[in-house]
Amino acid sequence: MDLRSTPQEQRFRARVTEFLGEQLPPGWPGYGALAPEARASFLLDWRRTLREQRLLGVSWPAEYGGGGLGLAEQAVLVEEFARAGVPTHPHPNDTFGLNLIGPTLLTLGTEEQRRRYLRPTLDGDIRWAQGYSEPDAGSDLFALRTRADRHGDELVLHGQKVWQTAGLTANRMFTLVRTDPDAPRSRGLSFVLLDLDQPGVDVRGIRTLTGETEFSEVFLDGARARLDDVVGGPGGGARVALALLGFERGAVGYAAAIGHRIELERLVALVRAQGLTADPLVRQDVARCWGRVHQLYCLALTALTAGLRGDPPGPESSLVKLLTAEYHQTVTDLAMRVLGPSVLAPTGPRAAEWLRPQPLGSPADSAAAWTDDYLNARARTIYGGSSEIQRDTIASRILGLPSSREA
Ligand SMILES: Cc1cc2nc3c(=O)[nH]c(=O)nc-3n(C[C@H](O)[C@H](O)[C@H](O)COP(=O)(O)OP(=O)(O)OC[C@H]3O[C@@H](n4cnc5c(N)ncnc54)[C@H](O)[C@@H]3O)c2cc1C
Repeated sequence: MDLRSTPQEQRFRARVTEFLGEQLPPGWPGYGALAPEARASFLLDWRRTLREQRLLGVSWPAEYGGGGLGLAEQAVLVEEFARAGVPTHPHPNDTFGLNLIGPTLLTLGTEEQRRRYLRPTLDGDIRWAQGYSEPDAGSDLFALRTRADRHGDELVLHGQKVWQTAGLTANRMFTLVRTDPDAPRSRGLSFVLLDLDQPGVDVRGIRTLTGETEFSEVFLDGARARLDDVVGGPGGGARVALALLGFERGAVGYAAAIGHRIELERLVALVRAQGLTADPLVRQDVARCWGRVHQLYCLALTALTAGLRGDPPGPESSLVKLLTAEYHQTVTDLAMRVLGPSVLAPTGPRAAEWLRPQPLGSPADSAAAWTDDYLNARARTIYGGSSEIQRDTIASRILGLPSSREA
């Protein structure tokens, strides 16, 4: 791992810091400090500015509207933006467009699919959701039953997907469906890019235990997709879906490692505010968290180095996903202990981010924001593949043990 920056990376860092200096007012505390209404309009404007400056999809080729740079520059952006308290992915659907389907189309899509989808995704005209899970197919994804039957040069879809994050704001969904019911489980699947704004699609919100509706379920009854919107060809869906999951698990790495550092500083500020700096148990646990954050950062650098070498995300992404998810439960448990009984009737501003650590500027002593984090952290060991599934992948694909399904 060579941590020295190349001249190109140094130039890019200078460009980013200059950009931030021009765009943000003096004394900018970070967007975590904004009130909810101000935050919504800031995020809208911020996304527009990033797009104009080609700072969305920095590592995507310029011919598809990206920045034409590399993963190293993407990492520089993540770092500098986190330090300045501004987001790299301002819209809730950007995670799916920029981190997941974009890299998948760049790796496995046809030229026509890249031309049709990448630029509108950067422009924000196409907002993606992920349609993998079904009521009876989560961990065992290949048990899915949503059917897609061929009619001429179209597929007609029937079935139900569930747990679509940001489904209510999406207008496209990449989804895994069964196109050949007679083929063995994983071979009969296809990966389809589906328009959600059409008859035969019903997207319904699901309210979670935080009281928010960030999830949805999607009912398909005769929805149509073009055959040339199948990525990886008919029957090639499992390979594409797994490649995308590699990006999903890997994507949590670097940005999350930096986000967790900022979050831990916020926790230390809370420990001070609560007068618990001399409490031996709290001190032990905060130091333990610091060790974990450092471990996550080193792991993220290792994954980044592999990416810079051109290696696709491998089973190591399961390790990053597992450790990050479990760490977030540990640190938010600790925040609950530090806050004490005030979490039973939490006050203060609520979280600015739902499935990520809070950005710079978020008040350290807001019991409401920490409670949101604590509740949302429960989800992290489930989505993107549960911790048990990540451990199974580590056991079988890194350690060479038989998979639980063979053992
Ligand atoms: C916040 C959040 C966001 C999500 N967003 C999306 C989204 O945008 N799109 C989407 O398609 N899905 C999404 N999901 C769904 C998610 O992918 C599934 O919940 C997950 O894959 C687990 O599936 P399941 O809920 O059906 O649980 P199940 O698969 O029924 O698992 C139940 C329990 O059994 C354990 N288990 C299952 N199989 C094994 C095994 N072989 N070995 C050991 N233990 C096992 C699991 O670890 C889990 O603890 C999201 C989920 C959450 C919580």
